[in-house]
Amino acid sequence: MENGTPEDATLTARRPAIADRLQTGALVLAAILLATGVVDVVRRPGGIVPVAWIYLCHLALVALVLIATRRAPGAHLDRLAAASVMVWNALFCSYALHTPGEMSALVAPSIVLLCSAAMMFPWGVRMQALVSFVSLLTYLAACALSGRAADLGMLYACMSLAGAAVISCAGAYVIDRHGKIIDEQTRRLTEQNRLMREAGVRKDEFLASVSHELRTPLNVVLGYVDLLLDHSFGPLEPGQRDILHRITKNASNLSHLINDLIDLSRIEAGRLKVEVATFDLGPLFSDMRSVMEVLLAGHDVVFESYMAPRCGRVLADPDRLKQIVSNLLVNAVKFTEQGKITLRAEPREGYIALTVTDTGIGIPEAAHRAIFEPFRQVHDRSRRAPGAGIGLSISSRLAQLMGGTLVVASEPGRGSQFTLTVPLAAVDVQSDAEVA
Ligand code: ADP
Repeated sequence: MENGTPEDATLTARRPAIADRLQTGALVLAAILLATGVVDVVRRPGGIVPVAWIYLCHLALVALVLIATRRAPGAHLDRLAAASVMVWNALFCSYALHTPGEMSALVAPSIVLLCSAAMMFPWGVRMQALVSFVSLLTYLAACALSGRAADLGMLYACMSLAGAAVISCAGAYVIDRHGKIIDEQTRRLTEQNRLMREAGVRKDEFLASVSHELRTPLNVVLGYVDLLLDHSFGPLEPGQRDILHRITKNASNLSHLINDLIDLSRIEAGRLKVEVATFDLGPLFSDMRSVMEVLLAGHDVVFESYMAPRCGRVLADPDRLKQIVSNLLVNAVKFTEQGKITLRAEPREGYIALTVTDTGIGIPEAAHRAIFEPFRQVHDRSRRAPGAGIGLSISSRLAQLMGGTLVVASEPGRGSQFTLTVPLAAVDVQSDAEVA
């Protein structure tokens, strides 16, 4: 009966291996017995009847082990196999040693062979010692009962059995010790894993609650700044307006960061949801054009956007799609000092590919995976633009949640290209197929 302790789990895990080895051992034994039987019958045709009995007993034992390991892999398998070895050993000894003549010469090596093979099974020190001891005892008892004097053959047989027993017990001891060490290490690692998972959950909860606590007062600050800018508390000097605009800009950055942290904690808790709908890409493109105009004001960088025909409608979460595209464009602005930034939309086998290309500093190939992991920023501190390194990890997860992908192609000094794919709306897929 399983009681669910770690030791039981380890034993249960080992049983199939024990069953396998028992079967292999039994088959090897059967092959040896058959070969010995054939040689014996060829050499001594007269002795076929008693010899056949002996080998039949051997084979019956082997068959029993095979059946036991096939029928009941798991429950008390090792004890059953050990018991059958001992029973057959006893029967065999008493039969063979009471048979006069040259049978006695055959008995010793057969018993040594049988017991040594049995001792090779992975039974553990205690069982190994028991089997060895009982085998030796059975043989000695059979010799004593047969009334035979201690001859050289018997002495050799005893010594061989004792030698096999020592080797078997020593091997089992070494295996048991290593097994225990491995079990202990596995237990410790499992415990550490559990603690780390718990710490991860606590960290996520902390991140989520702190982010919520930060967002509320920040929204209040932004609300009051808006009221001030709307002259709700009286007219403002140009200098005062300028300061309020700076407050709004910095507070908005902070608000974005907090929203990203909240998204990240939801992703890690598996609670981030998207609401997919069919919508037009046109408004998103015109929004992005206005945003880029503001972001690139005073920069030596031009912005171009292009939307291919037949890719107007997509199946995605409109807010989340905008979040991803904004993040890609903001990154492009951050990492491009001069040249061009392009936003393109083109149909691609049931999907729409939205590509943001820049002529900026680029990303080394070794970092192409890392940039999609949270808090990873690949450029050194002197070049590093503001940001917490979480935008791309959130974007990539959002793309997956919407049934799409986000990939990068980039080379240092030659710019970067981020491609986001999202499913094309059903009607557009149909019209695409018709056109094709
Ligand atoms: P953040 O931009 O806030 O640091 P992201 O997750 O958006 O975080 O980006 C992670 C990192 O990937 C950036 O810090 C930057 O090193 C690199 N990166 C992203 N976009 C670009 C780009 N267009 N050109 C060069 N490097 C980029």
